[in-house]
Amino acid sequence: MKEITYMSTRDDSLRVKASQAILEGLSKDGGLFVPSEIPTLDRSMDELSGMTYQQIAYEVMKLFFTDFSEEELKLCIERAYDSKFDTKEIAPLVKKGDAWFLELFHGATIAFKDMALSILPHLMITSARKNGITNEIVILTATSGDTGKAALAGFDSVEGTRIVVFYPKDGVSPIQKKQMVTQRGANTKVVGIHGNFDDAQTGVKEIFNDRALEAELDQAGFQFSSANSINIGRLVPQVAYYVYSYATLLARGEIRSGDPINVVVPTGNFGNILAAFYAKQMGTPIRKLICASNENKVLFDFFRTGVYDRNREFILTSSPSMDILISSNLERLIYLATGQNAAENRKLMEDLRTTGRYVLPEEMRGAFADFCGYYTDEEGTAEMIRDLYRETGYIIDPHTAVAAHVYRQYREETGDVTPTVIASTASPYKFTRSVMSAIDPKYASEEDFALIDQLHEISGVPIPQAIEDIRSAEIRHKDVCEKEEMVDVIKAFLQNKQRR
Ligand SMILES: *Cc1c(COP(=O)(O)O)cnc(C)c1O
Repeated sequence: MKEITYMSTRDDSLRVKASQAILEGLSKDGGLFVPSEIPTLDRSMDELSGMTYQQIAYEVMKLFFTDFSEEELKLCIERAYDSKFDTKEIAPLVKKGDAWFLELFHGATIAFKDMALSILPHLMITSARKNGITNEIVILTATSGDTGKAALAGFDSVEGTRIVVFYPKDGVSPIQKKQMVTQRGANTKVVGIHGNFDDAQTGVKEIFNDRALEAELDQAGFQFSSANSINIGRLVPQVAYYVYSYATLLARGEIRSGDPINVVVPTGNFGNILAAFYAKQMGTPIRKLICASNENKVLFDFFRTGVYDRNREFILTSSPSMDILISSNLERLIYLATGQNAAENRKLMEDLRTTGRYVLPEEMRGAFADFCGYYTDEEGTAEMIRDLYRETGYIIDPHTAVAAHVYRQYREETGDVTPTVIASTASPYKFTRSVMSAIDPKYASEEDFALIDQLHEISGVPIPQAIEDIRSAEIRHKDVCEKEEMVDVIKAFLQNKQRR
């Protein structure tokens, strides 16, 4: 197998192994790790169509994580995709209306982040062992709601790790917040910040780039890593479910080998849709990558104009995990667009940092030919939830609804009837209030858990364990801080325990 190394989008002289890229999370120069090339699948789709989710995950990951042994990788996969998921299929594909919904929310925290965060801790511990790391690994995470809980669940009580999660105090759903602040595990810390997700993410990135702090922590036996979707150890496992969805359609006789499909992805930080792009590069016959945004439509504007501009009002919507103005993973695609020119990419990212915008030169926009961007407002999101429920009885969460509404627009506008997979990124139980109010305004005045019971009644879908768990759980994390205090919070958390 061809060895894949990883380089930074801001420094092409740097080359590290997969395990090192996973451990570091973000490159020291502020860039993101990208594979030296995107490998091609060495199994045919017909072969893959007879495989389980775990087997396909292995076929994808072995090509990217080439310094892991077969045994190491298979063990990570086995431990990740097990009975934490409430279905053997791991990612069921269901046809409703004129699209297939790829349900990525059957893991421990009922959002698609579980697909990657149930395996990341195992990849990280394996990477630490391979590289002779003795420091304790401190996972720092900024969350728009779903990453936080999925990372906490993944790293809870994992030997040799601690995890600190920062979330925007007023920017997550009540259920998302309750899931996080009730987290158990002595190695976990959850803190609200006065600010939005971009503030949290920028704060975390600055901490990663603080060399003095790094040295200080190293002295004390700690080192930082990231569980955000900038970590290549999160991105690659996500590629697997796009390959899996194609293989599943083929196995069911819905398509013939080689037929193209489209995918629609509700997008925030651009991780999930980038994984679909990688799946395409690997040889999965995907035609269009349809990027769905909510009212924070930076990406929609970017795809239309080539201008990325975050200088705009930050809007809180019913799809909070997509309330993002700086889509970090886009940098990986920009880097490709520049012809893998780190200096050029660095310049654009510097523009973004200093002026809040950059312009991708016309001649570089070809890299985006497979993508198209659409967006939906709050009304369209609610309408989609209501319409699909009335037509099919199927209830989707607001993030998935943004994607479904975008697909409706795309189909009307283009007449393209290529079989289409919509990434269904959260269980409706995670956003019960928005979902139930969309179905009927009469639900708006009810209490959260009463709504959950009503959602169960009208959908017939069992209430997930993740929801039952928080009904009466004790609040364990009450801290709130200013952006400027994030470092102090981390230091205090690391201090209050003995070094092992
Ligand atoms: C994180 C998240 C998204 C956005 O995914 P990105 O990889 O950040 O683009 C969409 N929907 C839900 C429910 C999420 O949790």
